[in-house]
Amino acid sequence: MHIDSHFDSGNIDVVEILPGNRANLRIKKDAGDEHMQWFYFRVDGVRDQACTLRILNAGQASYPKAWDGYRVCTSVDRQTWTRVDTKFDDGILTIEHRPQGQMQWYAYFAPHTHEQHLELLSECQLSSLVTIDRLGATVDGRDLHRLVVGEGTLQFWVIARQHPGESMASWWMEGFLARLLDPDDAIARRLREMVTVHVVPHMNPDGAIRGHLRCNAAGANLNREWETPTIKRSPEVFFTLEAMDISGVDFCLDVHGDEELPYNFLSGAEGIDGYDTSRLPHLCEVFSTAYERANPDLQREHGYPVDAPGTANMTMCTNAVAARFQCPAYTLEMPFKDNANAPDPVFGWSPERSAHLGASGVDALVHLAQAFTDAE
Ligand code: ZN
Repeated sequence: MHIDSHFDSGNIDVVEILPGNRANLRIKKDAGDEHMQWFYFRVDGVRDQACTLRILNAGQASYPKAWDGYRVCTSVDRQTWTRVDTKFDDGILTIEHRPQGQMQWYAYFAPHTHEQHLELLSECQLSSLVTIDRLGATVDGRDLHRLVVGEGTLQFWVIARQHPGESMASWWMEGFLARLLDPDDAIARRLREMVTVHVVPHMNPDGAIRGHLRCNAAGANLNREWETPTIKRSPEVFFTLEAMDISGVDFCLDVHGDEELPYNFLSGAEGIDGYDTSRLPHLCEVFSTAYERANPDLQREHGYPVDAPGTANMTMCTNAVAARFQCPAYTLEMPFKDNANAPDPVFGWSPERSAHLGASGVDALVHLAQAFTDAE
């Protein structure tokens, strides 16, 4: 048995390999920070043999409660990721599995690597409907790209992967961009007429390559940097906010994954000053209702507690952008586990369903754009 994680988005330390195809493993912390939960590694040489893989420090992960009801993702070809029963006892996450491949891959969620991100950008640029520009450089010097689609007067922003371990956000982007750029889709065409859509598909490429859960290469949790981003610590946020100031923002959607809750849900900016008496509640209601109708994998019953007025955490994108531009804004959370309202025993919450939810975002955005027009 041999175990390796030295590749794009890989994360695991091998503590020891024991007789009987048993391995003790540890998840590495994000560089410069305490966060850890994402893992992605390959097991070689034990096809069709019973293996026991134990992650010894799972109990010290950022969200230890998230292991309850969690099932690990595994793949032979890195295309199809199925789920395997996983146990969490005494702080140790145990995977008992017979690899079907000579090389078997395991991950916290189906990975969406930096190479896949570059492929997505390359595919998108073939469309005459998109302009791609570079907002700036990340801490490690990678390019931070923005896609601009549409010619409308409204300025909508959609960003993803502030938290690099939340790979479902990139799968969402795959579905969203494919539909947004579909020349034959009349809803997408309507959106492109009414709105200029600014898309940052990957806010944290450094963190993703490094196999981080939450942080960039400087150890900054980007979704806690929106009050006072700096070029040194959080250039990814600094340059995005700079571009937002130039375009203006009429709506912002920030796409994430949640470790604990087995649902898709939206989280709003109810806690910012003056929210209740503004036009924002109405516009948010239009968007969230339309999204739920367009795709029932999104629900509005379960989610984070709503912030009381005046208690918003202004370091988070949704609150900071809603307050700065007096615009509706949402964080979208998808599960690592599954949608408990429509569980899938084979795949759990999957790249495919994330992509469908992304495609449905186009429907919700059109309804929101229409609400702006109606209000004029
Ligand atoms: Zn997140």
